[in-house]
Amino acid sequence: PPTGPDAAFADLNPQQRAAVEHGLVAPEDGHGPLLVIAGAGSGKTKTLAARVARLLQSGADPQRLLLLTFSRRAAGEMERRAGRMLHRALGLRSTQAPPRFPWAGTFHSVGARLLREYAPRIGLETQFTILDRADAEDLMGLQRQALGLAETTDRFPLKSTCLNIYSRTVNSEARLDQVLQDHFPWCFAAHDALKQLFGAYVEAKQQQHLLDYDDLLLYWAEMMSDEEIAQALGERFDHVLVDEYQDTNRLQATILHRLKPTGDRLTVVGDDAQAIYSFRAAEVRNILDFPQRFQPPARVITLARNYRSTQPILEASNAVIAQSRERHDKQLWSDKVSNEQPQLVTVEDEARQAQWVADRILQRREEGLKLTRQAVLFRTASHSAPLELELTRRNIPFVKFGGLKFLESSHVKDVMSVLRWADNPRHRLAGFRVSQLLPGFGPASARRLLDEMQDAPEVRTVLQSFQPPGAAKADWTRLSALMIQLMDGSDWPAELEAVVQWYAPHLERLQEDAAIRLADLEQIVRIAQGYGSRERFLTELTLDPPEASSDESGVPLKDEDYLILSTIHSAKGQEWEAVYLLNCVDGCLPSDLSTGAQAQIEEERRLLYVAMTRAKQHLAVMVPQRFYVTQQARHGDRHLYASVSRFLPGKVARHFEKVGPANEVQAPLPALVKPAMDVAAKLRKSWS
Ligand code: ATP
Ligand code: MG
Repeated sequence: PPTGPDAAFADLNPQQRAAVEHGLVAPEDGHGPLLVIAGAGSGKTKTLAARVARLLQSGADPQRLLLLTFSRRAAGEMERRAGRMLHRALGLRSTQAPPRFPWAGTFHSVGARLLREYAPRIGLETQFTILDRADAEDLMGLQRQALGLAETTDRFPLKSTCLNIYSRTVNSEARLDQVLQDHFPWCFAAHDALKQLFGAYVEAKQQQHLLDYDDLLLYWAEMMSDEEIAQALGERFDHVLVDEYQDTNRLQATILHRLKPTGDRLTVVGDDAQAIYSFRAAEVRNILDFPQRFQPPARVITLARNYRSTQPILEASNAVIAQSRERHDKQLWSDKVSNEQPQLVTVEDEARQAQWVADRILQRREEGLKLTRQAVLFRTASHSAPLELELTRRNIPFVKFGGLKFLESSHVKDVMSVLRWADNPRHRLAGFRVSQLLPGFGPASARRLLDEMQDAPEVRTVLQSFQPPGAAKADWTRLSALMIQLMDGSDWPAELEAVVQWYAPHLERLQEDAAIRLADLEQIVRIAQGYGSRERFLTELTLDPPEASSDESGVPLKDEDYLILSTIHSAKGQEWEAVYLLNCVDGCLPSDLSTGAQAQIEEERRLLYVAMTRAKQHLAVMVPQRFYVTQQARHGDRHLYASVSRFLPGKVARHFEKVGPANEVQAPLPALVKPAMDVAAKLRKSWS
């Protein structure tokens, strides 16, 4: 193998290398804007990481690189990949500390940090709190109630729908009536009331110093229209690099444009065939129009070789995307030959589907493929329920991405609310939640307390002098002491432990499974050790909640082998040796929640493409002939006879090996060594 400074980049193909070396080989040409647009698994992310390593090798300062990815996990992965390549390039030993990239993260987390820094200059309170999705919904719900909208019209959109409409309007920089007409036609009658509601929502946020996710982009974009700030930030970041550019929205494009107006030293990579976030107002036009946005236009590099999947998997994926009405001028090829076609597996119902998948997973594990190298994907988080039961029954450990997050469970929210409230005493939702934990402290007392705090110049005095209802006196004294301690102290993460200690007796009173929940909280304390301050911890966790995963951000199942369950959306950018895709039937994929508009159907098709292209060696696409759909409560559960997804017509399906109930392999169930021992251990415990 080649050695020397180039060894780290030796395996790049010529197009990848061109992207990595852009502006470095002939510096007189400068680092004009660069777009890498290419299909799944063609090495876009790898190329971006290599470019980062190459820039550092040629003297760039890691502190001055802005690296935008779509999740914290992806940012961490990029950091690791780039670090490894840099080490090789510089001939360093692996024991030497890898470079840190303080500015690697999502648009939202970077935005949050910059806003804190610039808050005073743009008239923003420095101590703002970031609302997570659930809190934003609740705040919307409160305004909806306060305005009497929930009562007057029984068909007024739900608080979650209201927030979706609001968010879409903000992110697309469009007019409300337009957004309603295009995406929420059934809510059009509520136009005027919605306007009023959004006004109240915005006002409540301002009063309480709250920013929702959208505000982070909105304020950031707004801040960038200040020439001086835009210039300062443009100079602070020598290079700006963005992965998954196809899923950015207009605000994000605006931010980048103001950061690097000429596109100089701006690199973006993405794949228009994988645009799957239009429901969050992502604009695939961003990537298609990127080259022409600059003068002279951006350099465009395409990659055609796929390094991830076998040729048969790739052919099937290509066939899916070829059916698209839109043009995706990419035909990927791979030299990973295999005589194993992807499988199209028909099973009777979801229970059989779960059994089939679990059987196959165990079989592969017996053959040496660890669970972590296999993944089960699905369109909607709820689709995995029957499989989760089956996995639990068989003691197969798993971790789920994209479902209910760790932070959404009530006990974790309680503890986080204490921190948020101490951080920003005007945060009424947090204050309300915390005070309601005290027995005898009713909603009326909470409102009285929060009103006093809202107006007081010094909240500590209110905390000390507030007269709670008699029954809550002792508990209140403890809580107010804790709050004052938190407001004064900055001993992180010891202060979090103090919160958990304060909370434990309440937990025991409120929940039967307090012990399990307490273990979760210990988990949180462990995670907290990875963050230098309360503020950083709150920001990062609110923006990108940890899934119960096994990366070093702190986590259950540390050394264990476990299976990944994930929504397709959360699987973006990742890969596994074996992928099982559940419920590939009409109504699930495409989802029957999509309005049926052509654009939405096309997006669902791209979702299938994203799912299939996650697989390296083995792919099974599952088609249960019967499945339950849990519609909104008033319809009750429905039992449907399903037909195979419309995205798999004959000419696509011929790329698959058909596996039906008749010719199903009846493999004997392999014995599970480890969980069986767990059972034995448990039994022993119950004897002794
Ligand atoms: P996606 O569109 O799914 O995000 P991608 O284009 O970002 O995919 P990567 O994840 O960067 O693709 O790469 C896919 C796989 O191919 C990875 O395992 C990567 O290590 C491998 N790979 C990419 N380029 C090369 C190369 N030149 N030589 C060997 N392996 C490569
Ligand atoms: Mg990628």
